Amino acid sequence: MWWKESVTSIRGIGNKKAADLAALNIYTVGDLLEHYPRQDGYADFSRLKKIAELTVDGSKQLFKATVYRVRNGFNGKQRFTIVTVRDETGYADLYFFMAQRFFARKYKPDTVLMITGRVKGGRNVKMVSEVNCQVIDADYEQGLGIVPTYNLAGNLTQKGMTILIKNALAKAEQELPESLPASVLEKCALPDRVSALKNIHFPANWQLLAEARRRFIFEELFLLQCGLLYYRSHRQEERQGVKHGIDGEKLRQVLEHLPFELTADQKRVWQEISLDMQDVKPMHRILQGDVGSGKTVVSALALAKAAENGYQGCIMAPTEILAVQHYETLKEYLAPFGMRVALLTGGMRVKKRRNLLMDLELGLIDVLVGTHALLQEDVKFAKLSLVVTDEQHRFGVEQRAKLTNKSEYAPDVLIMTATPIPRTLALTVYGDLDVSLMKGKPPGRKPVKTLCYTEEKRQEVYAGVVRQVQAGRQVYVVCPLIENTGMIEARSVENVYDELVQDFLKDIPCALLHGKLKASEKDNIMEEFSSGKIKVLVSTTVIEVGVNVPNATLMVVENAERFGLAQLHQLRGRVGRGSEQSYCVLLTPVDSPEALARLQVLRDSDDGFYLAEKDLELRGAGQLFGLRQHGLPDLRIADILRDTEVIVQARAMAQSLLKNESDWQEMLTYVERQLDDRFQMIFNV
Ligand code: ADP
Ligand code: MG
Repeated sequence: MWWKESVTSIRGIGNKKAADLAALNIYTVGDLLEHYPRQDGYADFSRLKKIAELTVDGSKQLFKATVYRVRNGFNGKQRFTIVTVRDETGYADLYFFMAQRFFARKYKPDTVLMITGRVKGGRNVKMVSEVNCQVIDADYEQGLGIVPTYNLAGNLTQKGMTILIKNALAKAEQELPESLPASVLEKCALPDRVSALKNIHFPANWQLLAEARRRFIFEELFLLQCGLLYYRSHRQEERQGVKHGIDGEKLRQVLEHLPFELTADQKRVWQEISLDMQDVKPMHRILQGDVGSGKTVVSALALAKAAENGYQGCIMAPTEILAVQHYETLKEYLAPFGMRVALLTGGMRVKKRRNLLMDLELGLIDVLVGTHALLQEDVKFAKLSLVVTDEQHRFGVEQRAKLTNKSEYAPDVLIMTATPIPRTLALTVYGDLDVSLMKGKPPGRKPVKTLCYTEEKRQEVYAGVVRQVQAGRQVYVVCPLIENTGMIEARSVENVYDELVQDFLKDIPCALLHGKLKASEKDNIMEEFSSGKIKVLVSTTVIEVGVNVPNATLMVVENAERFGLAQLHQLRGRVGRGSEQSYCVLLTPVDSPEALARLQVLRDSDDGFYLAEKDLELRGAGQLFGLRQHGLPDLRIADILRDTEVIVQARAMAQSLLKNESDWQEMLTYVERQLDDRFQMIFNV
């Protein structure tokens, strides 16, 4: 296929140009065709304007006018020439500098010019700079169309890039097969591929440009959705799912002995999961619940259900601290009723690990809790029927697959996430999953009071820390850095810890916690904090995920401006887990109105979903959740925030179109026809 060939197969591209193009990630002819103009970079040269119609916004415009007079000037630094032109609607001054003056000075009155340039408002007449003009016949009317602007690198110029793309387009016009099913093109009223490609580069008019863009945006999102559907259906075919029985005696016991009654949300979600597990079709469900909404107990019930039916379940957590905590909770809920819960982490002794793995393979373990260590090759289950991952945003698609492949069945999959993922993103990234939502929180919780202070309140904040400890409570102090290296100006755990123990917290047991500590050290510290021995924990964001210490009632976040809103909300979720009033103090040295306004958003809202959406708005989607992080291709033209409606449409279209195997075969040929290989990888599973 010609579009997979190197750009050097295009006329006019040698090694030098190829290197410049490579800097733009353009390697093949297809990449070149997909180097779409900048969205805001199209200039309208489709019609010659009148002088009165020129907008004075500094944009490049095209108009026709007659020379009125020519003057020379000097502004103290350089000489210039002003050519005043006119038409029946007004006058404009064209400014020429340096070599350009050579021609300009010679223009005679009444010469007709076609002019492009940037137009600004002058005191009396419009001023035009960066002028390009040519002498034309008085009856000349032909415009140049809508002109694109490309991102460039090296010695590439707009004009040069335009020529290269025109050469590539010439190939497309000869032979470029359609890459979307005809029925989809028709139903969604999308233009065909070749015209869309021509119009996105060199639009015949604005309408056609909009349609071309819509087509390529749709195409990306449609392929993504198809890929996700394919991925799922493909996995389903291979292995049998497990049909768990209806809830029995063991589950009744577990439920009865929980230290609390399930909330309405928990009951509803548990129903959804339980029914999914009773279906032979494997469950693929994401459980989205805000911090502290009580997801763990729901996973415990699902794991109990697997065990009750004679199968095994596992739960994978992103950090060791969290894995240990889950292990303890699950043991408490399940062990009294004969279910065997075990913990597998990275730092285990060889012998202990070997014994554990043997028990696992023999089916002597019902519930295995662990970190990434679960993914290792030699971790083998006897009868795995349920895979739970907690805080999924930290795991990729492949990791999920690795775990589910550890079963001869197609296991049920439950993904729990406390990082609220905006709906649009959930659809894109988890398009192949059903979604359960838990919005509320267990009863008896007081909302965390959030306060936002600048530097001068530091002493008072420290005094507040002491007061909480004296009242018998515990405190987190979170810093963005482990140690100060001088590169970044922010407070580090080491700084803050030293400062606190030397003065305010002299006689109070404190500890330092960060990711560079050994796993065993971290565990010890967490355990001592959990048990109340340590009163103040100075930590990095390692405590962000899942840690549950209900007696902690105050969190101080240093350099709060350095964190995203969703992350701060997540951190804040570590307090307010008991019945006491809790506080979150955001300290920041920055007193710019924008920074403070951003933190106020957090002060005023406790809705993780709202905050995640805000975060996306403020920081942009790419920065927060790269699709690549989820094992999915990057999008070139679609924007998951802006193009929500297209996502929904693409998903519906993919679902209705791909009902049987022959549809899929057809779809695979369309994937092959793509200009690049981005989407091939999801179809290659
Ligand atoms: P998250 O959804 O953030 O993982 P957890 O599962 O850690 O939340 O639950 C947070 C806290 O709420 C835990 O201490 C847990 O024991 C408690 N909890 C969960 N469900 C209930 C409930 N129905 N009633 C009272 N407390 C609950
Ligand atoms: Mg949790």
